[in-house]
Amino acid sequence: MGAIDLNARPSKDFEAKLAATQKLLVRAASELAPLKQASSLGAEDVVITHLINSLALDIPVFVLETGALHPETLALLERTQAASRAPVEVYRPVQEAVVQFVGREGREAMYRSIPLRKECCSIRKLEPLARALEGQKAWITGLRKEQSAARADVPAIDTTEARAKVNPLADWTWGDVWHYIAINAVDYNPLHDQFFPSIGCAPCTRAISLGEDFRSGRWWWEDEAAKECGLHVKKEKVAA
Ligand code: SF4
Repeated sequence: MGAIDLNARPSKDFEAKLAATQKLLVRAASELAPLKQASSLGAEDVVITHLINSLALDIPVFVLETGALHPETLALLERTQAASRAPVEVYRPVQEAVVQFVGREGREAMYRSIPLRKECCSIRKLEPLARALEGQKAWITGLRKEQSAARADVPAIDTTEARAKVNPLADWTWGDVWHYIAINAVDYNPLHDQFFPSIGCAPCTRAISLGEDFRSGRWWWEDEAAKECGLHVKKEKVAA
């Protein structure tokens, strides 16, 4: 059974949620420009890119190509670049920094300690993210309240940091996301058909079993509290 058959279950108020999301994106494009969508090429992000394209909004999409993505994700990136109306930008880490880190700590350093995992995320994700967001007033993410306890309070627009974060799917359920993918025939990452709920780097992402928590597919060897890569952690927590 594929991800659509398994997950596509719209909420009763799906149509209202969709209308609110479309309105939010249109408003963000006019009031928060310049802004970009950050895409991991996971289910939520392909929905948002599809909405940006169908609404013909002037919002570029960017992907952090960490050098450790699955072949399935790289293939979807190529297809998205070819099909998207909105420009799809790719940001890669500084090669020298990656070579030095891997040379010093090895390819599996992330499993040895949280500081080493965070150093890898810093080199491969946070530094390219800073470049991607340079000069931007806001950015769009696929965060949803349902994803984890840490995300339960995610607002539609987060203005607590200097750069606003727009979370158009904050109120969507996993069933809503897959319903949208199904009815719009959105191209999605085939890893979802292999029970990957979230898409990330290959060494740090795994399939989950029925009943396992949504985020248990990421950094599964760490404590729950340590499990963000820094992209969506408030500054004071990143330093901790
Ligand atoms: S998710 Fe894993 S491989 Fe990717 S940057 Fe972070 S530690 Fe490195």
